[in-house]
Amino acid sequence: MLDAAFFRRWMTATAASVDREAERLTALDSPIGDADHGSNLQRGFTAVAAALEKEAPDTPGGVLTLAGRQLISTVGGASGPLYGTLLRRAGKALGDASEVSAEQLAEALRTGVDAVMTLGGAAPGDKTMIDALVPAVDALGDSFAASRTAAEEGAVATTPLQARKGRASYLGERSIGHQDPGATSAALLVAALAEAADE
Ligand code: ADP
Ligand code: MG
Ligand code: MG
Repeated sequence: MLDAAFFRRWMTATAASVDREAERLTALDSPIGDADHGSNLQRGFTAVAAALEKEAPDTPGGVLTLAGRQLISTVGGASGPLYGTLLRRAGKALGDASEVSAEQLAEALRTGVDAVMTLGGAAPGDKTMIDALVPAVDALGDSFAASRTAAEEGAVATTPLQARKGRASYLGERSIGHQDPGATSAALLVAALAEAADE
């Protein structure tokens, strides 16, 4: 079973990973965006880590809803409301249980990813974070490690795609040949989940 401490580890591991990879995320957002994805998420997850330390929610749902709220209120770009919705909706789905199973987490994340698709209108293949999140959730029934690999493969597979949502879509065919920054950060989020499970 997964408790609030596990979820706090997941969020702090994500914050650390986003810190380490911020320059790379921003570099990916240069040719097909506005070169702010790394700094957007760095600001957001720094606020998440600070809020979790201050409030220390004692349920998995509480950790994720607080994290989602922080992302929505601190990240100006498209990715803030989208990641915020993912975590807030997943957190809501977990309710106030003090521990949840891996299956319940997978189901909650499915609900969150569906909400992101409704909010942003993106489907798989549109070259967005969805291209890493959907395969990750599909593989979560197998293991955290399988989910991590699926997310990483999904991110890499965005390179030959033409963007149909977000800023990159303004470039039309010129968006082809670049890995999507949001799919790349989504893979970091999923990798941090596998990390938290290993600890
Ligand atoms: P902005 O584009 O507003 O500067 P960011 O650079 O932080 O925001 O985030 C860009 C990422 O957000 C993209 O790489 C893409 O993965 C994701 N994204 C943008 N629009 C959408 C959408 N409608 N649905 C899903 N993901 C999206
Ligand atoms: Mg950007
Ligand atoms: Mg921006």
